[in-house]
Amino acid sequence: MATTDVVTMDKIVSLCKRRGFIFPSSEIYGGIGSSYDYGHYGVLLKNNVKNQWWKSLLQERDDVVALDSAIIQHPRTWEASGHLAGFTDPLVDCRTCKLRFRADKLEDAQCGRKPSKHPGETPECDLTEAREFNLMFETTVGPVKSDGSIAYLRPETAQGIFLNFKHYLQFSRKRPPFGIAQIGKSFRNEITPGNFTFRMREFEQMEMEFFVPPDDAQRWFEHWLTERFDWYTKLGIRPDHLRLRAHDQDELSHYSSATSDVEYLYPIGWQELEGIANRGDFDLTQHQTFSGQKLEYVDTVTGERYLPHVIEPAAGADRATLAFLIDSYDEDEIDGEPRTVLRLHPQLAPVKAAVLPLVRKDGQPELAREIELDLRERMQVEYDPGGAIGRRYRRQDEIGTPWAVTVDHQSLEDRTVTVRDRDSLAQVRVPIGELGEELERRLRSPWRSPKLEG
Ligand code: ATP
Repeated sequence: MATTDVVTMDKIVSLCKRRGFIFPSSEIYGGIGSSYDYGHYGVLLKNNVKNQWWKSLLQERDDVVALDSAIIQHPRTWEASGHLAGFTDPLVDCRTCKLRFRADKLEDAQCGRKPSKHPGETPECDLTEAREFNLMFETTVGPVKSDGSIAYLRPETAQGIFLNFKHYLQFSRKRPPFGIAQIGKSFRNEITPGNFTFRMREFEQMEMEFFVPPDDAQRWFEHWLTERFDWYTKLGIRPDHLRLRAHDQDELSHYSSATSDVEYLYPIGWQELEGIANRGDFDLTQHQTFSGQKLEYVDTVTGERYLPHVIEPAAGADRATLAFLIDSYDEDEIDGEPRTVLRLHPQLAPVKAAVLPLVRKDGQPELAREIELDLRERMQVEYDPGGAIGRRYRRQDEIGTPWAVTVDHQSLEDRTVTVRDRDSLAQVRVPIGELGEELERRLRSPWRSPKLEG
């Protein structure tokens, strides 16, 4: 089994395209910068990531509730939140090559004429002064374009939570400490998108605002740092490829008194996977002022009233999906043949089991179909009748299917099948009548990345 990390971003991009996880968007028109479409297996994988996030917050605890707010909010939202004035990146143009760069990320960019150099490093580079560029996408609402009709696509899902805070105090029977969570698309007109789905202009966030009594904020901040770090490792990310990094004072956003990032060791280096911020009462104060509505929590027993402070774990569904793909990517050899395999946590794997007749005759396809129909009730499965068995195993390995169920001549005699394990390659015979239970048992078992062994 391979133990060295063989993964590169190019290998991930090519596997994603080859196996139908992720495609460049609008490719028949030449593509549109840094937009991607998720194909069948990508949808299944990302759904599993999002479902695990929901499960950890909604099912495994009782102090978080769900929301799905609109993408286009009242434009005053973004005045109050500070995004209209301050959600900017510093932009520089190069008068020679006509490209644009983020002034604070020049060391990550390539010169338009000499890609081996960074912008500003060659004598021909002629960079303008940096100017602030707002990252929000503007649109107009209604049939008439006028100043009064300008609206914005949300650059984060968080604000929709603050706008609904009052509703939650009224209906949810929750009092601080409690959280409101949502998953949804966000839009940022990034100056330099890139690195596949790591930085796109349209992406999905998984954000939670956790409202707490002001004096408890630090304790809850620390609680969420641990919870969110552990979420990734429980789902198979190797702990030595994950770290928490506290922001320096000069890195902090205007609203935050403390932020730590969960960082993952992508092939492009350590990068943010998720940000966990102590936002204080900044947002509720701002929306209270701009809307004129009281957003305080009032304790009906003690009469105490206060604006809760907020701890925000803000994760990216695309960045997390990419990290799971990268962390699970492996190459090894079986009988002298090279193999690519995604060693995904079974809970995340797009398909849990493939049902394969060994040959396409003698009643094997019919029995395999029968087994597939039965397993469908329990989990995502796939029936694949065609081609050499080795090649079919290889295809399932590449999409990360943990178990392959093979129907052979013996199956018709004694109603047993073989179950092949993607990682250990062990094959065991299991009675068809016990197969569903056995696969469910395996799916529920604790799991550790085989890349950590050896
Ligand atoms: P960065 O510093 O990388 O620009 P950020 O600090 O601006 O990220 P946040 O505003 O904290 O990001 O957003 C929370 C999460 O949303 C990020 O940790 C990331 O997972 C995801 N995210 C942010 N911007 C993008 C993007 N352009 N493409 C994909 N995911 C993104």
